[in-house]
This record gives sequence, C-alpha cells and structure tokens, in this order.
Amino acid sequence: MITEAELLAKVPTQLFIGGEWVDSTSGRSIEVHDPATGLVLATIADASPEDGATALDAAVTAQAEWAATAPRVRGEILRRAFDLLQERADEFALLMTLEMGKPVAEARGEVTYGGEFLRWFGEEAVRIQGRYGRNPEGTGRMIVTHLPVGPSFLITPWNFPLAMATRKIAPALAAGCTCVVKPAELTPLTTLYFARLLEDAGLPKGVLNVITTSTSKEVSSPIIADPRLRKLSFTGSTPVGVSLLKQAADTVLRTSMELGGNAPFVVFEDADLDKAVDAAMLAKFRNIGEACTAANRFIVHESVADSFAQRITERVTALKIGRGTEEGVSIGPLINAGAVDKAAALVDDAIERGASLLTGGSRIDGPGSFYQPTVLTNVQAGSSILQDEIFGPVVSIITFTDELDAVTKANDTEYGLVSYVFTRDLARGQRLIESLQTGMMGLNVGVVSNAAAPFGGVKQSGLGREGGSEGIHEYLETKYVLTPDPFA
Ligand code: ADP
Repeated sequence: MITEAELLAKVPTQLFIGGEWVDSTSGRSIEVHDPATGLVLATIADASPEDGATALDAAVTAQAEWAATAPRVRGEILRRAFDLLQERADEFALLMTLEMGKPVAEARGEVTYGGEFLRWFGEEAVRIQGRYGRNPEGTGRMIVTHLPVGPSFLITPWNFPLAMATRKIAPALAAGCTCVVKPAELTPLTTLYFARLLEDAGLPKGVLNVITTSTSKEVSSPIIADPRLRKLSFTGSTPVGVSLLKQAADTVLRTSMELGGNAPFVVFEDADLDKAVDAAMLAKFRNIGEACTAANRFIVHESVADSFAQRITERVTALKIGRGTEEGVSIGPLINAGAVDKAAALVDDAIERGASLLTGGSRIDGPGSFYQPTVLTNVQAGSSILQDEIFGPVVSIITFTDELDAVTKANDTEYGLVSYVFTRDLARGQRLIESLQTGMMGLNVGVVSNAAAPFGGVKQSGLGREGGSEGIHEYLETKYVLTPDPFA
C-alpha cells in the first residue's frame, strides 16, 4: 500500500495546458489542506486570468481535430482511462480522503461511481445517432444530426472531487468537445492526478486542460465572455450558478447547471421502518452529509416519527468520528471551519426556535473541522434548517398528518433536485412520482446516483442532466437539414 507521502509526491502541482505541465504566470501558489488535521498537503500553481486564456486557446486549437477523431477512438481512450482508474483505485481513494476528508471506504465507492462515467460515455461515444426521413408534405427529406458543441468550460465542486470531474469530462470528450476544467481550490489534487491518468490513457494534447486557481471569478469570467467558448457546465452552489448564468447570457452560451438541493425524505406510516432507517443513514451521512443529494429534511408521519427518531438516534450515536484514513470511521471532518460554522448556526437556530436535540449539536475541539453527528426532532416551521442546505451530518425531523400535508411540506423549497419516499403503497408511490417537484426520486431507496441515469434538478436546483443517454446531449448541438425529394 502506497504511503501518503509517496502518493502526494506523485500528484502534479502545475497547470495542465496544451498537454504540458506548466507554472502559473501569477507566480502565486495555493496551499491544499487536510481538513482532518489542518496541515498542508501540497502547494500547487495558482492560475492567473492569462493562464485561463492560454488554456482556452489550447482547447480551441485542439477542437477541430478532436471532433474529427473517430468516435470509436474517443471511446477507447475513455475505456483505457476506466481501466487505469481501476488499477489506481487505491491511490485515488486515498487522495480524495486526504484533501476532502471522506472515509476511505466511501472514497473507494466514489472511484467506482466516478469511473462508471468513463465506461458509460466511452460506450455512448459510438451511439451518437441522428435520423433521416420524409417530411410530412412528402416534398423533401429531413436529416437530423448531432455535432459537438465545441470548447467547454467545466467547473467542479469539492465534495466529490473525482466523480464531479468525470461526470463532465467523460461526456464532453465522448461527444468530441475539448475542455478547460477548473476544479474547486479546496480539492484540486484529484483532478490534477486524473489529468495525468488521461495523459497516460493517450488523450491528445490540448483536448483537456486543467487550471487551478484561488481567484475563480477573475479567471473564469474572461473565459465565459470569450465567444470561442461554446459550453459551460457547472456544479456548485445556486448563488454562484445564478451569477454564471448571468455572465453566460452575454454570449448566449449553452449551460448545464447542477446546483443546490434541499431533499425531502418522506416516511409514510406504512413504510418498512427498518429499510427506511437504513436508507436514511445513507441518504444523510454518506459523504458526511456534504452532498447536494443529501436528505435535508426528514418528513415523517406523526404516528411513526418518535420510533423513527429513536432508531436513527441509536444508529447515529454509534457512528465513529475521525480522520477518514482511520479504520471504522464513518464521519470525517467537514471541508473547513466555514462549513462547521454553517452547520452549528443552523442547529443553534433550530433549537432556539423550539427543536428538540436528541444527540450531538456541538463542534468537536482540536485540529480539523469536525462537527458531531446530530439529530433534531420537532423542528419548527420558519427554522433556517428547513430552507438552507445543511451540508453536514445533521438529521432534522418534522412530522406530517396526511399525504397532501407531506407533499406540501416536501415541495416547500425553491430547490428541486431529489426526493426520497418510503411507503409500501404502490399507488401512493406513483402519485408522489408526479406530485413531488424534483428531478430525481428514490422510491424506497436512499441513494439514486448512477452513471446510466440522468442526474439533475428542477426549480433552482439547475438546468440539464448529467449521465444517462441524456448526458452526452449536453455537449452536442442538434443540426437539422432539409433536402428536396430525390424522386421529384
Ligand atoms: P460550494 O458551496 O460547493 O463550495 P461554490 O459554488 O462556491 O460551491 O463552488 C463550486 C465551484 O465554483 C468551485 O470550483 C469554485 O471555485 C467555483 N466558483 C466559485 N465562485 C465562482 C465564480 N464567481 N466564478 C467561477 N467559479 C466560481
């Protein structure tokens, strides 16, 4: 097993532009920290706006040849990347634990999930199909074909450092688009190491470029304003997404936006409570609660709410907290002190407004940014925790009386990413598919993400879908052609 120091020594620390590893023109650097200890893991290049422009130049230069590359060849590069990722799975898992904090077992799970996008879109590359047929009038032939949209700017968040990158990079490359990737400054190492892997998989120079920067806005804005850029794909918070959409409007830039969530987890009185509790633990505590798909509000029928809360509390008090590299740990640190402050403020506000604290509720002293896994019941309407994304290990429970009340409460948010519903009543489950305002739903399951499925939200949770057969179309233009009737 590779040591932490050996692994960190292998991770590139420069920018990846035009197939070369280069220093930043700013001369500045970014320190990447271990959130479990606060110690510096690595010091990497801090890109300037000029570096961003050079990266876009490289993507633009490589675009025509990459679009002309046979789909099979593009797909096989992705397949090789998938295979290399399996060989390096332990390294990627450890690297994500070091820079992001999640337990190693979960980081391994992310390598599997993130890798599936390489395999899936490697397969989709050869299935970009159009159609050909007569027009209704019978006077001509209609052709519909799909072409790569062009150079794409991919901005990723820190919570899933590998999967959020592969979920964008794989469909872009499969579709024939070159790209500039900007990972989150808190967790850039995984993307840098992944760029090295794509080099090893034979990706031509300039097709993928990576810029790491502490000045996201200053570096991103000129790239977004450049008319040669044809696509922006962003995963992150809704306020930043809104600001990027406004910038994208100036050049009518195509966008995909995966923004915040406020997932309801609805438990009906007829639910299998054992299964609901198992799923709740996953939906809440996977990734330390730092997921846009994390269950944010538990909405439980009043007749089973006490029993549900008690079982969850028993499970939560048994969770082991610590650095993600330690055996048996399931709750690592939050990403930084700001994340701890946010969780603490939401919990304190809920308690002040009348919620009951069943366990947790405090920060953990010492190095690293830890917050206790927490259970709140009887959370009162108007509490911030029911509207804001917690992004931490906090269960917040409210009750409902009947199906209409459950649906009204579940939909009482500007977000609409995912919902979770537990019921044994098939017709009720089917009604909720239609009445819950979310882009995804887990019906008697607590995790829905899959490379083969369209991931995305409605309302302020975003625009577009990633994954599935839909995912590649985010990087394709539809072109329609009419020709005269060849028999006329
Ligand atoms: P989170 O709350 O997950 O940190 P953010 O929306 O702040 O979400 O960040 C997601 C990604 O967006 C990160 O890569 C971050 O560096 C980047 N980012 C933040 N602000 C801007 C901005 N104004 N322009 C471009 N990228 C940004």
